[in-house]
Amino acid sequence: MTMRAARLYGKEDLRVEEMPVPEPGVGEVLLRVKAAAVCGTDIRMYRNGARGATPGNPLVLGHEVSGIVESAGPDVHGYSAGMPIAVAPNMGCGVCDQCVSGNTQMCATFRAFGINIPGGFAPFMLIPREAVSQGNLAPIPEGADFVSAALVEPLACVYNAFQRIAIVPGDTVLVIGAGPIGLMHAKVALMAGAAKVFMNDLSAERLSLCRKVEPAIIALESAGLKERLSELTAGNGVTVCITAAPSAEAQVLALEVVGLNGRVMFFGGLPDGKSKVSLDTNLVHYKQITITGTSRQSLIQYRQTLALVASGRLVVKDLVTMKTPLDEIRASFEQVMQGKGLKNIIEFA
Ligand SMILES: [Zn+2]
Ligand SMILES: [Zn+2]
Repeated sequence: MTMRAARLYGKEDLRVEEMPVPEPGVGEVLLRVKAAAVCGTDIRMYRNGARGATPGNPLVLGHEVSGIVESAGPDVHGYSAGMPIAVAPNMGCGVCDQCVSGNTQMCATFRAFGINIPGGFAPFMLIPREAVSQGNLAPIPEGADFVSAALVEPLACVYNAFQRIAIVPGDTVLVIGAGPIGLMHAKVALMAGAAKVFMNDLSAERLSLCRKVEPAIIALESAGLKERLSELTAGNGVTVCITAAPSAEAQVLALEVVGLNGRVMFFGGLPDGKSKVSLDTNLVHYKQITITGTSRQSLIQYRQTLALVASGRLVVKDLVTMKTPLDEIRASFEQVMQGKGLKNIIEFA
């Protein structure tokens, strides 16, 4: 049996082509993909090429995936054909300290679907034995559809940041970067009871798109931003600032706009070679600022996020601005590269 899959051969070389449908071996599961979301990481891999994708060994992209168990190989426990599943993408060696502490995503030899093993921009995806036994397959509870379940992956990255920065009711939060990830941060902060959630972006168009999805956010353009924030927080500054943009300026700004005892989350990474930033460390000192960062998510954070989405308390489906079949994946990538819309979904029958 063959299937059509989107494979990256190298820089700007993505081909939708026939390849064999994988067969699940001992301990493995074959997933029938229902929805896979397009991520900024996919676009970066497409634009720049990726270590795991070469002409000799092209890689099926797609790491934000949901589907149904098609079949399970011998010696698989807990999963059977027909189960709806959301897939946490990162798996570890299972034996290092990070893995043992539940942080398989921080394993030195971590592997991830669509990053260095075949992902979900294909009608079928093979789940290796360690992913099955580590618990990367999360059964989708009643209340979550496949599109929402595919969006759990980026949302769980945001949830990781949310837990680390410990947003509590009454916080005033500024999110810099009005892309889909920034909007997810804003949604989680609102859910947690933040008194005010501000968003800022260089693009007024993206800001207004976010406000259309989430009218409770306060969109602030960059001109006069510091003064407006000061007015809107009675001169105190925000209690939390999250940078959700690959921007050094955003990191510099974050230290300026948080108040005394403020917390700063460097969520968005900076481009390679541009991550050494000059920061005013006296602001950290005199304002007692806590700076932290996060990357990816643990398996339990993934499952907690899925449960929140299924509960209906955290809605992310409204971020979807484009749905296409796999054969139109390049058009979908094109939209993202032009900065149009928020989240794009590749849908399967
Ligand atoms: Zn992603
Ligand atoms: Zn490990």
